[in-house]
Amino acid sequence: MSDEIKYVLDESRLPKFWYNIAADLPAPPPPVLHPATKQPVTPADLEVIFPMSLIEQEVSTEREIEIPRPVRDIYRQWRPTPLYRARRLEKALDTPAKIYYKYEGVSPAGSHKPNTAVAQAFYNKEAGVRRIVTETGAGQWGSSLALAGAFFGLQIEIFMVRVSFEQKPYRRALMESYGARCVASPSSETQSGRAILAQRPDHPGSLGIAISEAVEVAAQSPDTKYALGSVLNHVLLHQTVIGQETMEQLAMAGDEPDVVVGCTGGGSNFAGIAFPFIGRMLRGGRKTRIVAVEPAACPSLTRGRYAYDYGDTAHLTPLVKMHTLGSTFTPPGFHAGGLRYHGMAPLVSHCKELGLIEAKAYPQLSCFEAGVLFARTEGILPAPEANHAIRGAIDEALRCRQEGRSETILFNLCGHGHFDMQAYMDYFAGRLVDQQYDESELAMALAGLPSVNG
Ligand SMILES: *Cc1c(COP(=O)(O)O)cnc(C)c1O
Repeated sequence: MSDEIKYVLDESRLPKFWYNIAADLPAPPPPVLHPATKQPVTPADLEVIFPMSLIEQEVSTEREIEIPRPVRDIYRQWRPTPLYRARRLEKALDTPAKIYYKYEGVSPAGSHKPNTAVAQAFYNKEAGVRRIVTETGAGQWGSSLALAGAFFGLQIEIFMVRVSFEQKPYRRALMESYGARCVASPSSETQSGRAILAQRPDHPGSLGIAISEAVEVAAQSPDTKYALGSVLNHVLLHQTVIGQETMEQLAMAGDEPDVVVGCTGGGSNFAGIAFPFIGRMLRGGRKTRIVAVEPAACPSLTRGRYAYDYGDTAHLTPLVKMHTLGSTFTPPGFHAGGLRYHGMAPLVSHCKELGLIEAKAYPQLSCFEAGVLFARTEGILPAPEANHAIRGAIDEALRCRQEGRSETILFNLCGHGHFDMQAYMDYFAGRLVDQQYDESELAMALAGLPSVNG
């Protein structure tokens, strides 16, 4: 029996195509609607904020979309990423299950997000765009786009949720080191920001507000576009390099997963690892359980409604059908900043409706407990978001122990936690609690869903 722990692919095995699940789905997801007319959006509507090449990817049904050479040349710096067998974790859990994890924390920004940031920067540059505006919560997406902007000579402007702007100075410093401009949101630079500040000058901000500010700026200047780090079809598409590489690496190991686990904020890293496996199932291949893990304090997949909703607070974005907690829902403060969005990617939501995936929600303390056990056995300190996937994978391994089954479990370790040490300090000091979201606030946010839902 082999005792390998690491599966590394040669640079020449870097995927040449992104995998588009739309080609294999039995039914397409419902159309995206214009926020004013509530009719399906046209590419021309979207061209105000996105370059046409990305809009084409958004609606494409081609199974394989070629990864441009300049994008692959940048990917090569850290891709293919390693796949590990978590032998010491397996031993600590005393489980007959095999646990594998794909590690995306080796990118320069420390997460999977550069996979799409680099692609989006490339297409914007190609379209003659000079500046990209975006939002960021904890700063993972902002630093990834700042990195990509530096590579392609694009100006990057980032509206950062104010509470994170103040609490996470190191992520901000990283964005500025890459040459980006970072503004606390709500800001006085936009109409949406000023409207919020007029109501509440000390507003802590939210992703929904920061998106409104970024979209507003992009819509007003012809040389400026907007970029989103998750949720949209083209973002999920760019992340599929993760799952494609993993399939090859598992073949090297002579294994196939029975369960694939990923954490879900907007759904992109989960889709990145899961969609290639779901596609294989849809084409008649091996049956695999696919499990999405989300925070109990922001449970869009397990507690949200599958309905049309806006992506932002000021309702400037198109309406998409997704599992949503309502665009006015504000989750209580918890440490996995990347999982605080009110909605879920339409493609992930659609897969849930089709019964292709399962979803689970965990409170943060049990996730930190899992993350610390992982750090002490495998040595990598995970991002608080990734701790949700680890919790999910550990629970599958414990089930295997109980049932005496030797299943193969795969999860995505989407990022390291080196910029999240405050969260770990709070956890060790006993300052973290499991916060419940406010049921009446959720009811109110859901009652406020747009009328297109009939
Ligand atoms: C942004 C982020 C997430 C959440 O976003 P998804 O689109 O759901 O992947 C999860 N983990 C890390 C490390 C992140 O940076």
